Amino acid sequence: MAKAHRHLPCGYCGRVTNANQHEHVVPKSLYTSSTDRTFERVTVSACPDCNREFHKDEAHFKAILTAAGEHPTMERIELWADVTKSFKREKGGKGDFIAFDEQLEEVGKWPDGTPMHRVYPGRNDRVLKVVRKIMRGLTHHRDESQIIADERVIAAIIVKPVPSDVETVLEEVYRVPNVANCRACFFTAERSTNLHSVWAIKLLEVEFCGVILPVTTSP
Ligand SMILES: [Zn+2]
Repeated sequence: MAKAHRHLPCGYCGRVTNANQHEHVVPKSLYTSSTDRTFERVTVSACPDCNREFHKDEAHFKAILTAAGEHPTMERIELWADVTKSFKREKGGKGDFIAFDEQLEEVGKWPDGTPMHRVYPGRNDRVLKVVRKIMRGLTHHRDESQIIADERVIAAIIVKPVPSDVETVLEEVYRVPNVANCRACFFTAERSTNLHSVWAIKLLEVEFCGVILPVTTSP
């Protein structure tokens, strides 16, 4: 059932404004016409400031993630066609959100001699910011009493497989086939740890890991 988000606190900063809107936790632009619609597209309430802030980075996020993956699922083909359209837009237009050229690194040559490029989502601050936002939004969606500040979240690309002992404690938080697979382990106060949660997140084909730190008591 659709929720009235307007009078709920922003899931990211806690503010109640009279203009809070529902915001897609996994960016709406990652869902395509090929995406299975039987899976929920999770939204939380977000204030206009947070909404605007995320919107700028999400177009960039989509471009980098779509370029980074290797497996051509129907979703990826559709997203890539969409991303390349934005390259043609003039400066000052919507495509300006995507500083794509700066992200390409030449790594060799194709057999025909043209340069081969690679993108590195894990080195990209704007990409990691969206990953952190997804962790924050999913935490709030799971428990609306929790509002996680960006400073409490660490996200990185996964360079090694998740260790098997961590793998066994991860629970599914959110999954849409070919789009997102977000798993986490939430620690409770009884379990002696300093962490709020640990995460393994796959978006399109790109895998990230993350940690939410406890609330620090200021010195
Ligand atoms: Zn906010």
